[in-house]
Amino acid sequence: MKYRSTRGSPKLLSFSEVVLTGLAEDGGLFIPQTIPTLPRNWRSEWSKHSFNSLALEIFSLYISENEIPRADLESLIDKSYSVFRNEKVTPLKKIKERFYILELFHGPTFAFKDVALQFLGNLFEYLLERKNRENVLDGKGRNDRITVLGATSGDTGSAAIYGLRGKKDISVFILHPRGKVSSVQEAQMTTVLDENVHNLAVEGTFDDCQAIVKTLFSDVPFNKKNNLGAINSINWARILAQIVYYFHSYFQFLSLLNISPDSSESSNIRLQYVVPTGNFGDVLAGYYAKRMGLPIEKLVVATNSNDILDRFFKSGRYEKVSGENGRHVVHETLSPAMDIVVSSNFERLLWYLAYETIDNSNESEVSSKEEMRSNLAGSIVNKWMNDLKTEHRLIVDKAQLEVALRDFRSARVSDQETMDTISRLYSPDAENQVSYVLDPHTAIGVTVAENQIISENTHQICLATAHPAKFSSAVEESLKNFKEFEFKQILPKEFIGLLEKKKKVIYVERADPELVKQIVDKELEIELSQMSSKTNV
Ligand SMILES: *Cc1c(COP(=O)(O)O)cnc(C)c1O
Repeated sequence: MKYRSTRGSPKLLSFSEVVLTGLAEDGGLFIPQTIPTLPRNWRSEWSKHSFNSLALEIFSLYISENEIPRADLESLIDKSYSVFRNEKVTPLKKIKERFYILELFHGPTFAFKDVALQFLGNLFEYLLERKNRENVLDGKGRNDRITVLGATSGDTGSAAIYGLRGKKDISVFILHPRGKVSSVQEAQMTTVLDENVHNLAVEGTFDDCQAIVKTLFSDVPFNKKNNLGAINSINWARILAQIVYYFHSYFQFLSLLNISPDSSESSNIRLQYVVPTGNFGDVLAGYYAKRMGLPIEKLVVATNSNDILDRFFKSGRYEKVSGENGRHVVHETLSPAMDIVVSSNFERLLWYLAYETIDNSNESEVSSKEEMRSNLAGSIVNKWMNDLKTEHRLIVDKAQLEVALRDFRSARVSDQETMDTISRLYSPDAENQVSYVLDPHTAIGVTVAENQIISENTHQICLATAHPAKFSSAVEESLKNFKEFEFKQILPKEFIGLLEKKKKVIYVERADPELVKQIVDKELEIELSQMSSKTNV
């Protein structure tokens, strides 16, 4: 399996290259050359699989055996998911008839990003280890290291830190805006004391942090010297890891309903996945699952008031909102992990919309036709991304929007509706409905699910992207009228005393790239000297 760029560069890369480089040279994102299809007997063969065995089957379709041998892949998977607190990794819970919640928050930082970042951390370490072994054989010494650099407004940073802590040959620097992430998120990041983890609390906003990271990545000498690596949501391995829970939840769903995967009953069921969406990574994994052959009727994109995606699916226009000063507007909402201006993974879907609508009626050979069609899709995406850059919007045509609507629906949800839903799910008025405490991100999906008009045989699965204790103020505010509700009831034991634990954090007094460069250099020097003094003993 090889990977291509969404912007039409003819260069094909291997899985390892794609993981380590992140972004394509032409500025595009990597997509698999073809979407693999499922083995004919996947229903019966896979239905009894654990999360880990399913991951192995699915990853094997996207990673060539000669790149990562199956046994190695298996141990990477086992290492990544053994740290999850639930034996099913991502368990499916029934809330009421035809309505389920898929809990993705049983990893170390209590949010769905752990599913991908635990795997990505181990994968990085594995690929570097292998490179360094080759280096040693070539007489070059163990000199391949990477410095992972990222900015966070909360969730990504902690999940990345937990994915990379203590990993050999990897240093990680995470910038966060000082005082502007929640206290739990701040503590989750800064109480990790491993030598290779460096938290930078920057006096400034999240945008400032992101701008610094961008500047450092494009600083060629600095980037070369430190071999910068990215863990942001466009890394293909993150999307790949997320495909697994769509399959796993499908089998859990059939088993809860006592339906055999091979039966005709299973083919009468219609299934919708409702996904709280920001950067379009989570729901894009569902799109790949559907294209591979998982019987999903619709993927429903649920946004907060940062609704560029909802507007796209309603109009075919993907358009940033500008404020009076010409800067792009991000609304601060109760679901901060979904507060985005544009969705970084959306470009991947755009490629498929372009590809699917290219007229391929001309007569040339099938294989060269395929090539031409892919190249043409790349040039269409290139033009769209250019429009987005220069005119702050791109517009797809009617046929392209129709292709999108074969797979997707969308809706947006306000903060007030989010709070109402948290309260309603806690204290349901229907009989046979379980009481459930939602976090504000999951509540966005649940609101949309409850507002959809669905047929008799449609079932809905809502993806729960964070544990409610992570977003305590929104949850407490929503449930303040319930005397019997005490936050303690939902507080995981891992959070007790978290805020008082020892912290390791570097204060950055100005949002200045030069200052951050100096800090990175100095910290790396200290870290490497500590390492070599250890290996010398
Ligand atoms: C990142 C995140 C999301 C959004 O996921 P995308 O892949 O960016 O669409 C939703 N909820 C939580 C809690 C998150 O951390």
